[in-house]
Amino acid sequence: MELTCAVQNYAWGVKGIKSSVAQFAKATQPDLEVGDDQPFAELWMGTHPSGPSVLKGSGVNLDKYISEHPEVLGSPVTEKFQNQLPFLFKVLSVNQALSIQAHPNKAHAEELHQSRPDVYKDPNHKPEMAIALTPFQALCGFRPQEEIAKHLTEIHELQNVIGTDFCDAFIKDSNEENLKKCFNAMMTASKDAIASALSDYLQRLSSLDSTKGNELLRDLFLTLHEKYPGDVGCFSIYLLNYFTLQPGEAMFLGPNVIHAYLYGDCVECMACSDNVVRAGLTPKYQDVETLINMLEYEMLPAELRKFKGSAIDKYTVSYDPPVPDFAVDVIEIPPGTTEYSLRTVDSASIIIIVEGQAKDLTISPSPPGEVAPVTEVHRGSVLFLGAEQSLSFKLDGNSRFLAFRALCIL
Ligand SMILES: [Zn+2]
Repeated sequence: MELTCAVQNYAWGVKGIKSSVAQFAKATQPDLEVGDDQPFAELWMGTHPSGPSVLKGSGVNLDKYISEHPEVLGSPVTEKFQNQLPFLFKVLSVNQALSIQAHPNKAHAEELHQSRPDVYKDPNHKPEMAIALTPFQALCGFRPQEEIAKHLTEIHELQNVIGTDFCDAFIKDSNEENLKKCFNAMMTASKDAIASALSDYLQRLSSLDSTKGNELLRDLFLTLHEKYPGDVGCFSIYLLNYFTLQPGEAMFLGPNVIHAYLYGDCVECMACSDNVVRAGLTPKYQDVETLINMLEYEMLPAELRKFKGSAIDKYTVSYDPPVPDFAVDVIEIPPGTTEYSLRTVDSASIIIIVEGQAKDLTISPSPPGEVAPVTEVHRGSVLFLGAEQSLSFKLDGNSRFLAFRALCIL
């Protein structure tokens, strides 16, 4: 079944038809208006009430279809997730940094939702995984000890914000407790102290020669400071790992891992939830105290924050994180291959075609209910496939075929 998916026009999205979100959406909705100044941030594939997908042709809400035919979810999913599709699948096209954030674990999410339902709107956890479509820049987890110590030593403006006592204590003994004290002092410093330290630092950075400037992440700092002047998040890059995922590389964000997406396109899959605890690089509501207390302060090299997939066959790599809610298969078929069958699984899945085209789609058994048959797909097509349904197709063999598939492995 082909889906038509909702678009979110958040301000941080890439503008106009340059956004891959706009390109994907336009591929299945030719009438969609794409203004040059309009940001296209996210494409949502799933049943989330803030942007539910609908069956192309009939216009029936995917959620309604699933509730009428729960068997399409597969029995392990219906049992574990009470007849709900447990994941939300997205494409993101990021032009400007998203907030520094972390997501609560299940027990903490329940507690937050109970005490502040206006802010934390559901009781679910929100693990998420991002797989890069283009070089994708992000902040993730705390840097290794020696990198943090070096930054605290060299950037006296940051030292002034945190306080020399906390900085010296960390440099002397780089443990998690001392890191938490430094991070807490930085995040809770007064707005004025932060703004004035940032402006001093900005001046000093501009006067440094390029080698030293690069060492101090000058370009990144300037980009962030231009969009978020006076925001403490601009200093966070000296405590957090900064890296670029190359296309096909992934990162998994389990509970309490601090992160921020900065720039680029990715496919993202997450548990169906909206629970985000934010602080920094955002005009949205910030809950600094909750963030500081929930975070894991493990200091790891950036490379260890990347998440590795495992090969299922010649063309499919599975990224299966340690949560039941979702996994993602990446299907990459080089030119020269003319047919392929997806692996059959016991959960529903959502598939987005990112490159190439396929025809003569054969689905067996055919889906329940009245459903318009799909015979051809191309870049931007999104499919819903029921549990235990097999899907095979033919390729022209001239170009690469690339698709991402969200599913559950229980
Ligand atoms: Zn997140």
